[in-house]
Amino acid sequence: MRLLLIEDEKKVASVVARGLRAESFSVDVAHDGDAGWEMASGVDYDLIILDLMLPGMSGTELLRRLRLSKRNAAVLVLTARDATADKVANFEAGADDYLTKPFAFAELVVRVKSLLRRPPANPTHVLCVADLELDRLTQQVRRAGKRIELTSKEYALLEYMMAHVGRVLSRTMIIEHVWDESFEGLTNIVDVYVRHLREKVDEGHARKLIRTVRYSGYCLSEEEGEPA
Ligand code: CA
Repeated sequence: MRLLLIEDEKKVASVVARGLRAESFSVDVAHDGDAGWEMASGVDYDLIILDLMLPGMSGTELLRRLRLSKRNAAVLVLTARDATADKVANFEAGADDYLTKPFAFAELVVRVKSLLRRPPANPTHVLCVADLELDRLTQQVRRAGKRIELTSKEYALLEYMMAHVGRVLSRTMIIEHVWDESFEGLTNIVDVYVRHLREKVDEGHARKLIRTVRYSGYCLSEEEGEPA
């Protein structure tokens, strides 16, 4: 099991690394956020122990980038920040566990072992089609790295289309999945919402991802031309 410890307090880092090596883990150490990101994005670690307040890139930013790049290493946040808001923000950014300083080494070890016993975190929580990204955990959508604000229905529609990338979806299928079964309005509500989505997702981009399939419905795809 290969671990990465990102911690700028050198004394803490050396004590934790030594202790984990004594437990037979292979441990790499980074002392700032940028070096940590370089290592975390270059190697498939099983687990990363991450401090939040770091010189260079912050721990939270590193975590967010890690999840966007689909690295599935378990992440245990180890920090002096004990506010609920910090915990919530970091779990939302993709943390698997959170331990506040000061901590007992024995507790860190059982948490590390417990995380390593779990199957890898759901790797599909970020959906990507071309440069469009949708994070099911934070419900954030980005195109070319830029945040797109969506209403909850627009989000649900986009998520459904991205989860079925390349498939033609009829208005009826979309109604059934995005609106609830009691919906009795007109199916042209779909056309209205797709138009809104297009304005937010495709407008201003050379490559259009949302396509109308005549007589059939809609298809979200990065391929050019008619869908199969
Ligand atoms: Ca620190």
